[in-house]
Amino acid sequence: MQNKIILVIMDGAGYEACVTQCGYLEGAVELGQAQRWKMITATPTLSGPMYETIHTGLWPHEHGITSNEGMRASERPNVFSLAREADKTTAAVAHAYYHRLYVDRPWDGLRSVEHHDPETDIQHARFYSMEGYGAMNAVAPAEIDLCAQVTLLAEHHAPDYLLLHSCSADTLGHSFGGDSKEYRYQIWMIDNALSRAIPIWRAMGYDVMVTADHGMNAEQHHGGMEKIMREVPFYYFGEAKGPNPGKSLSQLGLAATILDRLGVTPDAAMRPGFL
Ligand SMILES: [Zn+2]
Repeated sequence: MQNKIILVIMDGAGYEACVTQCGYLEGAVELGQAQRWKMITATPTLSGPMYETIHTGLWPHEHGITSNEGMRASERPNVFSLAREADKTTAAVAHAYYHRLYVDRPWDGLRSVEHHDPETDIQHARFYSMEGYGAMNAVAPAEIDLCAQVTLLAEHHAPDYLLLHSCSADTLGHSFGGDSKEYRYQIWMIDNALSRAIPIWRAMGYDVMVTADHGMNAEQHHGGMEKIMREVPFYYFGEAKGPNPGKSLSQLGLAATILDRLGVTPDAAMRPGFL
């Protein structure tokens, strides 16, 4: 297979919040335009470790990034590096953590937001820093603006693998909790932007996958073993048929699933794919 993939990671968006708030995504499932499963994350349910788990198919204990305080460049074969080695083109619209993981250069606050270098694992990117983020100011880009950046990268560089990472649900969850109107509204805001973007991306020939790195509990926290932290959705718009929709998927299988769809052989250590 030689498919092109857009993966959307809605940071901090748990399963229940998504299936109740994402009217576009859930409507697509009901119509048969998309498939959706419950996905169980690895642990600890933290952002940096899960970004690397999603892209390596390994537990944090195996890839070595176990804490947001322990961020460093990826040292394991991952979706970006394997795709690049297979002469595929990679791109991302993502938080600066992804620059740390897959570009591995010093962050220049006045330049690194735009990145183009075929020698790095993420070859084309628009990064954002969210500098100054906190309860007083979420400093999150608008969801439709992130979708626009993805569309422009797709039009200009035709990447085979294109990541969209939105931080806003996580940000509002940390400020107001995972059982708040602010958190649920933000998850709907992402769905509202995706409702305009996904049809365009599908028409451009992309399979689209939508998931989250972890959920968020009512105490504004994630990192542990609670269901609300570990259960996330996995939506898939594309031709492949997945397992029975009642089956829970493992987040560990996502890396191999993406590579299988791209026509790139997964690393032997990656957990098997599910599409
Ligand atoms: Zn996160």
